[in-house]
Amino acid sequence: MEKHTFHVSIIGGGIGGLTAASALQRQGIEVTVFERNPELREIGAGLTLWANGVQVLQQLGLTDALTAVSARLTHFECWSWRGKRLGSMRLDTIERRVGAPSLGIHRADLLRLLADAVDRGSIHLHAHCVGFRSEQGTIIAHFADGHELQTDLLVGADGLYSVIREQLLGKQPPRYSGYTCWRGVALFEEQHVSPGISSETWGRGRRFGMLPIGNGRVFWYATLNCPAGEQDRVGERKARLSRLFGGWRHPIGRLIETTDEEAILRNDLFDRRPVRHWGRGRVTLLGDAAHPPTPNLGQGACQALEDALVLAGCLADRREPVAALRAYEARRIRRSAAIIEQSALFGKIGQWEQPLLCSLRDGLTPLAFATFLPRLFVANVSIPS
Ligand SMILES: Cc1cc2nc3c(=O)[nH]c(=O)nc-3n(C[C@H](O)[C@H](O)[C@H](O)COP(=O)(O)OP(=O)(O)OC[C@H]3O[C@@H](n4cnc5c(N)ncnc54)[C@H](O)[C@@H]3O)c2cc1C
Repeated sequence: MEKHTFHVSIIGGGIGGLTAASALQRQGIEVTVFERNPELREIGAGLTLWANGVQVLQQLGLTDALTAVSARLTHFECWSWRGKRLGSMRLDTIERRVGAPSLGIHRADLLRLLADAVDRGSIHLHAHCVGFRSEQGTIIAHFADGHELQTDLLVGADGLYSVIREQLLGKQPPRYSGYTCWRGVALFEEQHVSPGISSETWGRGRRFGMLPIGNGRVFWYATLNCPAGEQDRVGERKARLSRLFGGWRHPIGRLIETTDEEAILRNDLFDRRPVRHWGRGRVTLLGDAAHPPTPNLGQGACQALEDALVLAGCLADRREPVAALRAYEARRIRRSAAIIEQSALFGKIGQWEQPLLCSLRDGLTPLAFATFLPRLFVANVSIPS
């Protein structure tokens, strides 16, 4: 069968878009990334890269760069707000099984590392895509400044509110989880946070998570059940968090105290219901544009990384690019859908408010850690072959 040369345009220079660009370039495929912002940037918070995400980055030759800016996670733990450890899972054992560690990393460090792995000339900033049309076997992408661009294949990696998705699948608001999330990064003395431990602490209708992300930094997040769109009063974010999590186990209060008020972010959490298909013709989606989960499993970015590797693998032989896009989608849809549903369920249970339900949950958690949870976790962090 004949080999084709083609050009791939990626809309969105986030974690998914940049990884896809790097993976495609490693296959010798011509790529351009279009990012609406004037610079490549990620918000100032941390991220867990579970072993499956790390494996993708290892395959892109980024192992050393990654090690230099991240913290290796050895355990994942669950605690009650009063300070009782409910369960612990050894990530270093799982690391040996799946062949890659799990890491805590600052988002900005990850994005920088990914940007460095892409040929700089192929990233266009200030390029806000507003839609596309198909024309005689090609795609014309439209930009907000009136500019148009012809391309062979178009990949929408433009996040939760993707314009490419909207055009493919129709306008649909994302699904509100019922809870909001604050995030912060604190410079923190090591002795107060056990090295290598990522933990989540549960209360009623609220949770607090923390993990090291390297170079003396701890990333933390806090969730609370509330209506979508609720705001904090200006300058009172930290005070509110201190009230909400007052009396919780050490070092939660200290972490909040140590973080600058202006550096605390707040976002309501959304996902989208899984879909049966997300591409058409010469256009496909990747990452949050295709399958955004709530962050309860810490898998959104990891799934975007997996998408990137599979997409590049499917396009590598350059024979039937349109069929390759459908093959990519077929390989990714089931797994990413399962992550969305599991993540929503974990979030729902974690956010329970009713005292009896919370006691039941906290009482059964040790059993879950001793039985099915590690198996489920290994399945989630193993890339299907
Ligand atoms: C609170 C929270 C915690 C999380 N924690 C984790 C975690 O621990 N581990 C994990 O794996 N995942 C986590 N995630 C999920 C993760 O952040 C996302 O899944 C991931 O960022 C998705 O990457 P993406 O590249 O698909 O989309 P995005 O990161 O949203 O990037 C999209 C890019 O496209 C650009 N763009 C958008 N529209 C246009 C346009 N029209 N034209 C041009 N450019 C455009 C944007 O500016 C952006 O740069 C978390 C998410 C949240 C909200």
